[in-house]
Amino acid sequence: MARYGMVIDTRRCVGCMDCVVACKTENQVPEGFDRDWIATDTTGRFPNLHLEIRSERCNHCDAPPCVDCCPTGASHVEPFGHVVLVTPEQCIGCKACLASCPYDARFVNPDGFADKCTFCIHRVKEGLDPACVSVCPTRCMTFGDLDDPRSEVNRLIESRTHHALIPAAGTSPRIFYLT
Ligand code: SF4
Ligand code: SF4
Repeated sequence: MARYGMVIDTRRCVGCMDCVVACKTENQVPEGFDRDWIATDTTGRFPNLHLEIRSERCNHCDAPPCVDCCPTGASHVEPFGHVVLVTPEQCIGCKACLASCPYDARFVNPDGFADKCTFCIHRVKEGLDPACVSVCPTRCMTFGDLDDPRSEVNRLIESRTHHALIPAAGTSPRIFYLT
């Protein structure tokens, strides 16, 4: 069984937010909330400044505290692709998972359940990329199986310098940013 992850090339992202709009449309994300978003980091000292633009979302961590802390089992690791999901019918809206996520990747849906990126598992099951990946005009995102040594995600990770977000949190995130 696959273990899905994503590789995002920060040199190609222009911050156009097409990924954010695509996610909202595909997943009918309620107004005022986002399952993905654009973050920017400026480093260096003038005039040698560097701007990193990142499309961020749930990292579908290998060691997800949001799953460990859930009292009902609503937050779980789906066998298909090891994707971290929430079963709305089992969620009591206690927000423990929101508090445990170092990435602020979750929100409470107006219908009362914890909500977040699903890696568009409904599309992936049909052989499609997640909506955000499929619409990116600069093709900066690559989705695939981290357990397949021949996958494009692994080729990119091996061939470019990269980083994950907040490694000190110890959650083993599965989104890698090429630098
Ligand atoms: S990014 Fe947050 S919500 Fe997603 S799996 Fe990791 S800890 Fe859980
Ligand atoms: S808000 Fe829902 S998914 Fe999150 S910890 Fe509570 S019961 Fe589990």
